[in-house]
Amino acid sequence: MLGNKALAGLLVAVLALAGCGQPATPGSGSEAAATLNVVATTTLISDVVQQVGGDRVAVATLIPTGADAHSFDPTPQDIARVADADLLFINGAGYEEFLSAMLANVGGEVQVVDLSEGVALRELAAGEGHEHEEHAEGEEHAEGEEHAEGEEHAGLDPHTWTDPNNVKYWVEAIARSLSAADAANATSYEANAATYTQQLTELDTWIDEQVAQIPAENRRLVTDHAVFGYFADRYGFEQIGSVIPGFSSAAQPSAQELAELQDQIADLSIGTIFVGDVVNPTVSQRLADDSGASVVTVLTESVSDEAPTYIEYMRYNVERFVTALK
Ligand SMILES: [Zn+2]
Repeated sequence: MLGNKALAGLLVAVLALAGCGQPATPGSGSEAAATLNVVATTTLISDVVQQVGGDRVAVATLIPTGADAHSFDPTPQDIARVADADLLFINGAGYEEFLSAMLANVGGEVQVVDLSEGVALRELAAGEGHEHEEHAEGEEHAEGEEHAEGEEHAGLDPHTWTDPNNVKYWVEAIARSLSAADAANATSYEANAATYTQQLTELDTWIDEQVAQIPAENRRLVTDHAVFGYFADRYGFEQIGSVIPGFSSAAQPSAQELAELQDQIADLSIGTIFVGDVVNPTVSQRLADDSGASVVTVLTESVSDEAPTYIEYMRYNVERFVTALK
């Protein structure tokens, strides 16, 4: 059971070498050694799955680095990759708006692991926007058509990872599902999970120390959309408002909503609008110009070349917050 796929992979590699004399590509060794082939929807999830899976697990990512998950559309190649995978790790909580359509095309073969299960999901707070504006995608479905789980969770914040304590639940769910799919390596997955959970605890402590430099009255976030709610709840910040009201960057702000936010920025002397690197900053930049604020780029839906892991992603953002607000 353990060896079948690995052996098959090795056999293919050996045959390929014997058949046409091609040198093995750098990636092929580890892929042949991997026991499980899994797909994760986001780069953030991919990194955490890789931390837990180690070299036993080959992880592919659907939504590339720097792409906006809220407006992602899978290609036929993505659908084929998911159909061939042992497991699909999703953020859940309605984050992957493409999910139900994609899974209908995949055909129900792949086992889906929803990482928001077990996380206490927060609802839209006052000032964070209007929940019904974010689900234009879902409304395209005909009456009676099967609805994705996420559509039942309109108004729940899917950006759970902005609090590393929530990612500990991800780690538990990842270790559990990898162990169930590959029992022979369960000990390894559990050991990796314990090590990584310790790193998340250290990250949480580090964030506490960093944000201590920001005076309480400055712990206010204005962002492109409502991304940092879990972070705000954990570390004593308030999300004052966002350029795009709500939890999806795919929505559009009205002129009235922008005017209200501009008033808030002026009333509270907000100096910075934090804008994700995956969205067009034009509206945020104009709002900042009109309010005398500046725009600082942060990471929202994805890791970046500069911060290629989840932990580096968090450190990058915290450093931006501290520099701008202290
Ligand atoms: Zn988002």
